[in-house]
Formats: sequence, structure tokens, C-alpha cells
Amino acid sequence: MTTKLTPNVTPDDGVLLRVDSLTRLFGRGEDAVRAVDDVTFDLPRGGITTIVGESGSGKSTLARLVLRLMEPTSGTITLNGRDVTRVRGAELKAHWRQAQAVFQDPFSAFNQFFTIRWMLDRSRKLLGAVDVEERMTTALEQVGLRPKDMLDKYPHQLSGGQRQRVMIARALMMHPTLLIADEATSMLDASLRANVLNVLVDLRDNSGLSVMFITHDIGQACYISDLVLVMKNGKLIESGTVDEVIFNPQQEYTQRLLADVPRLHDLSDA
Ligand code: ADP
Ligand code: MG
Repeated sequence: MTTKLTPNVTPDDGVLLRVDSLTRLFGRGEDAVRAVDDVTFDLPRGGITTIVGESGSGKSTLARLVLRLMEPTSGTITLNGRDVTRVRGAELKAHWRQAQAVFQDPFSAFNQFFTIRWMLDRSRKLLGAVDVEERMTTALEQVGLRPKDMLDKYPHQLSGGQRQRVMIARALMMHPTLLIADEATSMLDASLRANVLNVLVDLRDNSGLSVMFITHDIGQACYISDLVLVMKNGKLIESGTVDEVIFNPQQEYTQRLLADVPRLHDLSDA
């Protein structure tokens, strides 16, 4: 099947991340799980690109491969024009600054006995000789939190939405070019979720951040995305703008994902 995977004509300098024939198997031989199966796409600079698919479709594996937290079986990952598929040492550390991530569980990500300042300060290891205090303050402001109110607090004193914003701030301290949000809003209830989604939209609009937003919930994809890529069984099966994929899905699988969203129109007005 030929699917157009890079709609809206992205010239090379508009491409931040290029994933080419990326494959990751778990296990060997006939029983191997093809968690990510020959995935190819371009992620444009300065937009929010959503990967949507049901649980087990390979989204988190794709994220971990791009983040170089896991080795691919085959294929290449190019970020900012540099092939990072096999980089090691200092180059890998540079990649980890460029590509930052926020994950699902805001609760386990915090050590409850330590303050927000302590947690953010741990970025020092990867940051090296920069003004860490200044990075903390700026990053918290970027996600709409007041440093004075936040830094000496303990995790249990924050709402789930505030905790996720702190996690985004921690990522921003690295001055990344790519932020991967893997189900980062899935545990939040609707009102807090909207706050966090708005932070991502604001970062795109005002800081030019490029975001790879991962969700099983196509309703969230509708609200936030510039581009939507649909994953099923490790493969990309459909892609395009929100109008193309969400309001005019070509694949039956995508139509089924949409059928699970009870009030899509309410969500898009939210
Ligand atoms: P998603 O994030 O879309 O829910 P995952 O990437 O977590 O999907 O998983 C994709 C497939 O790969 C699933 O079948 C899952 O069981 C399998 N898988 C993921 N990680 C591992 C692993 N470390 N070892 C073996 N199988 C894995
Ligand atoms: Mg996942």
C-alpha cells in the first residue's frame, strides 16, 4: 500500500526529524514482535506532529528509538540533518539534549521526598557549564509556572497538571529542538489536560518548539496537531493534516479510533 507520509510538502530545511525504514523487533525468528515495522516519515520543524494508535501499536517503542534509549534493528534516524542512529559518547549526550521527552506518569517521575528545585537541578549533569538556576527559572516561566511559588514545593503539593508542566520545564532546560510527549496528558482529567495541551501549543507558537505528541486518544490529536500519523501493529498506515486524517480518514482502523471518541466536536471547541 502506498500512503503519502509527508503531506504539505516539507522542503529539507523544514524537516527536523527524518525517520527512515525504522524497524525494531523484540524476540527472534517467526515469533518476533515487529514493534516498529519499516516506519518512514518526516517531522517538520516548528509544528506538533501527533502519533496516534491503539495500545501496543508501537508508539512508545518509536519514541524510545528516536530518543536513542533503545537500539533499532534497522533503519536510520536523522535529527537536524545529522544521522544519530549509532552515535555514542559525547555525540549521544548532545542528542539527549536535542531530543527531550515527557512521559505518562507524573507521579512516579518525582521523588516525593525532594523539592522541585532539587529535581530540576539534576539536569546539571547533562547541562554542563551553564547557569542552571537561570535555566530553571526561564523554563518554569515558559510553562506558565511562577518559579518563586514552585521551586521549594514538594510534588504532593502540586496538581497532576502542574507536575506535568514541571516535567516539560525540566525538558526545556536542555534547550531541545524536539520534545517528545508520550501519553503525557493521558493520566490527567479533562480540565488539567487542556492546560498542559495549551502549554505545548504555546511553546510551538512562541518558542518554535517542534513536538512529537504521542497519544492513543485521537480526540487529543484533533485538538493539538498540525500533522497526524496513524500507527497500527508497528506500521504507519495513514498520515496527513487534522482535516485529512481526522475529518476524512481513509483507513477503517482510523475510523474505528474516531468512533471511540464520544464527542469530538465538543473537544475541538474546548
Ligand atoms: P504503544 O506505546 O503504542 O502502546 P509499545 O511500543 O509499548 O506500544 O509496544 C509495541 C509492541 O512491542 C507491543 O506488542 C509490546 O508488547 C511490544 N514491546 C514493547 N516493548 C517491549 C520489550 N521491551 N520487550 C518485548 N516486547 C516489547
Ligand atoms: Mg505507549
